[in-house]
Order: sequence, then structure tokens, then C-alpha cells
Amino acid sequence: MQDSLRPILDIQELDMKMIRLMRVRNERQKELGQIESLRKELHLQLTEKEEEITELGKHIQTYEQKIQDVNAKVKKLESQQTSIKKVDEFNALTQEMTQAERERVATEQKVSDLVDKRNAEEEILEKIRESLKASEASSLALEKEIQLSIRLINEEGSGLKKERDGLAAKANVEVLQIYERLLRNKKDRVVVPIENRTCSGCHIVLTAQHENLVRKGENLVFCEHCSRVHYWQDSEAVEGTTVATKRRRKRAVPAA
Ligand SMILES: [Zn+2]
Repeated sequence: MQDSLRPILDIQELDMKMIRLMRVRNERQKELGQIESLRKELHLQLTEKEEEITELGKHIQTYEQKIQDVNAKVKKLESQQTSIKKVDEFNALTQEMTQAERERVATEQKVSDLVDKRNAEEEILEKIRESLKASEASSLALEKEIQLSIRLINEEGSGLKKERDGLAAKANVEVLQIYERLLRNKKDRVVVPIENRTCSGCHIVLTAQHENLVRKGENLVFCEHCSRVHYWQDSEAVEGTTVATKRRRKRAVPAA
């Protein structure tokens, strides 16, 4: 294996841990967001329901006022009737009173319907209040737990970063840049061994010629299918003994 790849492999393992860690943190943050939006949704429902009930109350008041007006009108007509002598005028007043009476009955029916509706809405409002209370109590505990786990993840993450910074300082700059560019694209291991003449990144079978190049370890060799960098796992013994290979290896970083 190319010596320049060894520190990269260590860095890669730390990066894999970091990627997993960040995924977990994202998940947890998403959970926090869901709790928050559920609470907002319930608050919104509560406000809407309250407004609906207030609106119903206003309608009820308007109709009740109307009933009072009709009652006053009927009283007035009754008192007028007592002083009327002519039959046709009397009948006209009677007709007017009947009409007013009908109006009152219809309005009373409306009030009664609206009161029923308001009662039903108030029951719903109470249920929303209860579920808001319950969800706030349970989500508070969950939120605390999630926040704690995010804090721990951040601590672990900064530990990983410190360790990585130390390794990166010692790694070959060019190889590290190539590795980091590949990692940004794949978000997965990008320096991978050849196993059974197959790229262990994309699992596509490689040529014998390609495998030989990787075994020699003189240059960085990229998978022609997925662009990952290949290394040969059992090459340590060979490498240690071949001085000439090592010397060539030193200027072996291709401009990828
Ligand atoms: Zn591949």
C-alpha cells in the first residue's frame, strides 16, 4: 500500500464516525422540530377554536337583540290594538303581530342552533386544551433528553475533529485533498481495498491489469467505475522490502 494512504485510512475512519454522528444529530434535531411544530399546530387550533366561539357568541347576541326588538314591537302593536275601533285596522295589526311572532320563533330557533353549536365547539376546545397540556408535559421530557443527546454528540464530534486535525497535519497534503474531494462527493469511504478483484466501493469487477497497478502501489489508482482510490490489503510485506518502489512512490501522486 502507498505510505501516503495509511494516515488517510485513519482519517477516513474518523470521518465515517463523524458522518454517522452528524446523521444522528440531524435525526435528533428533526425530532425536536417535529415536537415544536406539533405544539405550534395545537396552539393554532386552540386560537382558531377560541375565535370561532367568540364569533358564535357575537351572532347569538345579535339574534337575542333581535328577539328583544320583536318582543317590544309586539307589545307596542298590542297596546295599539286596544285603542283601535275599525275592524280592518285591527286585522292589519293582528296580521303584523302574527308576522312578528313568526319572526321571533324563527330567530329563537337560530339562537338555539347557535347555542348548540357553541357548546359543541367548547367541548372540542376543551379537548384541544387537554391534548396541548398532555403533549407539552410529555414533549418537555423528550426535548430535554434530545437536547442532552445533541450536547453529547457535539462533544464527541469535537473530540473526533481534534483527533482528525492531528492526523491531517501529518498527512500528505495532495493526497488528503484528493481524498477530501472524493469524500465530499460520496459521503462514504473513498479509499477502499480491492477484494476478489472487485472494487469494495462499487462492487464492480476490475481487470487484472488494474489489480496489478494497485498491488505495485506506485501511484494512486482510481476505480474507473466509481473514482474511489484503491489499495491492496496484503501488500505490507512486499512494500517494506522494496527500496526502489519506495523511492518512486515519493513522487507518485498524480494530478487527479
Ligand atoms: Zn469502484
